[in-house]
Amino acid sequence: MDLKKQIKEIPLKNLKNFNKLKLDAFCSELRTIRAEQDLLNFVNKKNEIIILGEGSNVVLDAPSYRPFITPVFINQIKGKRIENVFGKDVHIRCNAGENWHEFVLWTLRKKIQGLECLAGIPGSVGAAPIQNIGAYGSEVSEAIHSLRVYDIKKGVINSIKKEDCEFDYRTSYFKKKSKNSSSNYIIVSIDFKLSKEWNNPNIPQYESVKKFLPETPDIFAVAEQVMKVRNSKLPDLKDYPNVGSFFLNPIISKRHAADLKKKYPLIRLVPTADGMKISAAWLIEQCNFKGKRYGNLGMFAKHALVLVNYDKANASEIFYLATVIQKQVMKKFDISLTIEPIIISSAEKPV
Ligand SMILES: Cc1cc2nc3c(=O)[nH]c(=O)nc-3n(C[C@H](O)[C@H](O)[C@H](O)COP(=O)(O)OP(=O)(O)OC[C@H]3O[C@@H](n4cnc5c(N)ncnc54)[C@H](O)[C@@H]3O)c2cc1C
Repeated sequence: MDLKKQIKEIPLKNLKNFNKLKLDAFCSELRTIRAEQDLLNFVNKKNEIIILGEGSNVVLDAPSYRPFITPVFINQIKGKRIENVFGKDVHIRCNAGENWHEFVLWTLRKKIQGLECLAGIPGSVGAAPIQNIGAYGSEVSEAIHSLRVYDIKKGVINSIKKEDCEFDYRTSYFKKKSKNSSSNYIIVSIDFKLSKEWNNPNIPQYESVKKFLPETPDIFAVAEQVMKVRNSKLPDLKDYPNVGSFFLNPIISKRHAADLKKKYPLIRLVPTADGMKISAAWLIEQCNFKGKRYGNLGMFAKHALVLVNYDKANASEIFYLATVIQKQVMKKFDISLTIEPIIISSAEKPV
């Protein structure tokens, strides 16, 4: 029997409703994990797996003629609680399948400080450490104490200290190690160390938020303003399927940055440990991709960094547009753009 015929006989499941780009992507095995015990029952130590939260940071590349053979698991382990309070410190355990924004709102309702700048980020709690989600000058790693992870190879749940997670700008040990997203670990829950000082919030390092805050803002004022700015810039996921920023903000050398500043005095550069961070949105806008539509997809008019699937785009079209943008930015600025979401493809080469 030929391969096409064999694949036709496997009943396939479409992952369209499990990824925010709304890509048709197919798999032969799909399971929902609702309890820690499900991991022990269903995750086979010998096999690779694909684990998804809410699919808001993935590009799934598995058309029906080339479905994922690797089983796909959706993490929906729910539950959160305050573990203990020491002085001003509040220790919280939140399970990976909780929705991130709902969790932030829960901390706000309990007058707990620490996550206010991260309100409104889509996705699950369990995926937050993978790329060390961040916004408006805050990163989730600042609030994490440790993680509980299921070690697939050993079949046990272990605790990993924050120091061992190698958190950095939009990355972590888990993102670096994951090969085609089949990591050795499934994050089961996160232990956060937050604060009772609700009137001493993290102040966003962005004028667009800062300038609208009262003189002595609390966590509620910060979260509200962050949400307002996000809603004004980012496309509504219901109408415009997307995964947020499609490229990372590149870090360039100080010399390169100084040359650019001479040519483009309005350019925004932020010093980092390794050089200067430059806005990828600005680079893309300068190359005239902002607001442009190419067939089924395009770059959003209000935010040049957001790639939108306007109508049944597929992963190949997305990779093509991404490559065109990367080449243009390289040609004009000599800067390499890196894709931010995680590409999970069934097109693996045999070794
Ligand atoms: C409109 C929009 C705005 C966004 N804004 C921001 C922003 O401001 N800042 C920011 O940092 N990100 C942003 N993002 C990206 C996204 O919200 C985050 O990366 C989020 O953490 C992804 O969560 P998820 O559950 O959807 O992960 P998924 O997309 O399902 O998965 C992402 C990766 O994590 C892995 N993973 C998921 N769950 C687990 C688990 N339990 N254990 C191990 N691995 C796991 C997956 O295998 C995959 O590799 C935005 C996305 C959108 C759509």
